[in-house]
Amino acid sequence: MESMFSKNRPGWAALLDRKVADYLPDLKYTHDEPLARHTSFRIGGPAARMTFPTSCEQLVLLMGFAEECGVTPLLLGNGTNLLVADEGLDTLVLQTGEGLNRISLDGETIIADAGVSLARLGVFAWQHSLTGLEFAHGIPGSLGGGVVMNAGAYGGELKDVLTEVTALFPDGVRTLRGEELALGYRRSLFTDHPEAVVLRAKLALQSGSAEQIKARMDELAAKRRASQPLELPSAGSTFKRPEGYFAAALIDQCGLKGTRVGGAEVSRKHAGFVVNVGGAKCADVLALIQKVQDTVFTATGVTLEQEVKIIQ
Ligand SMILES: Cc1cc2nc3c(=O)[nH]c(=O)nc-3n(C[C@H](O)[C@H](O)[C@H](O)COP(=O)(O)OP(=O)(O)OC[C@H]3O[C@@H](n4cnc5c(N)ncnc54)[C@H](O)[C@@H]3O)c2cc1C
Repeated sequence: MESMFSKNRPGWAALLDRKVADYLPDLKYTHDEPLARHTSFRIGGPAARMTFPTSCEQLVLLMGFAEECGVTPLLLGNGTNLLVADEGLDTLVLQTGEGLNRISLDGETIIADAGVSLARLGVFAWQHSLTGLEFAHGIPGSLGGGVVMNAGAYGGELKDVLTEVTALFPDGVRTLRGEELALGYRRSLFTDHPEAVVLRAKLALQSGSAEQIKARMDELAAKRRASQPLELPSAGSTFKRPEGYFAAALIDQCGLKGTRVGGAEVSRKHAGFVVNVGGAKCADVLALIQKVQDTVFTATGVTLEQEVKIIQ
């Protein structure tokens, strides 16, 4: 498959190094950063350049620099839904999860930067006796990644609480209302427009009982621990839920639990997860995904579509 970054202008990195040194000398900016350190799968070769903006203004500035230098950047929140190539990426990775972390409250509405984790948002909501985000507390992604994927669990999804998203588009920064975000099952306006960058979002919650909110969060965490292989690196559910079926049930029914390619394994605990049991390569995971898709299709006629995003 052709790399998403093959159109980057030769020499972009040296141009970008100079801009960052001139305008953002204090920014954390690294060369040949191993992406396995920044993905929950613990897979991925080096990014030519990686940076960790600490404000939305910095992120917008960096996107401008990237355009001027001829490089298409990759946005990374917490890297919990990504499978990155072993060869690494000849591009700039902009990571929001580390530094883009402002959060505030306006009545019953939370306003948070894209890099704020869903876990922290859940705790923040509970601490302010606000209900509506209990479902999101156990999802390991960032708010930005969550908006892109319309993350959801246990009957809730971000669509239920998102009222506004401020994002950078090629024509500038715009604020969109919830109904303009085309939020659907694991998709949004942003899955169709990967050139746009989520900067911050507003989540409208409701006043509730802190005790009940905490109890619900604890209940869902216990369910996750009981059913998901959280002790092993993964990117969560490998496949989307096919209409009318459950991916894990189909995979289990085909006897694929425990099937391995290299260090990648169909989890024995939850057939919907591919886990890294040690030293898995991107190529191992891709081969295992293909094997699962082929076997399930032959046995049941159902096509499994990947939920995990493959970046190469
Ligand atoms: C153990 C485990 C359990 C999980 N459980 C669930 C679950 O219950 N429900 C669920 O929905 N998901 C689940 N996931 C998957 C994952 O956590 C979600 O998809 C999450 O929303 C991804 O957020 P992220 O910040 O990690 O995004 P990343 O993986 O970093 O990125 C995902 C996509 O969003 C893009 N992106 C990230 N930030 C931005 C931004 N600011 N602007 C524009 N694009 C951006 C990336 O380029 C990429 O295309 C699970 C994952 C794991 C490892």
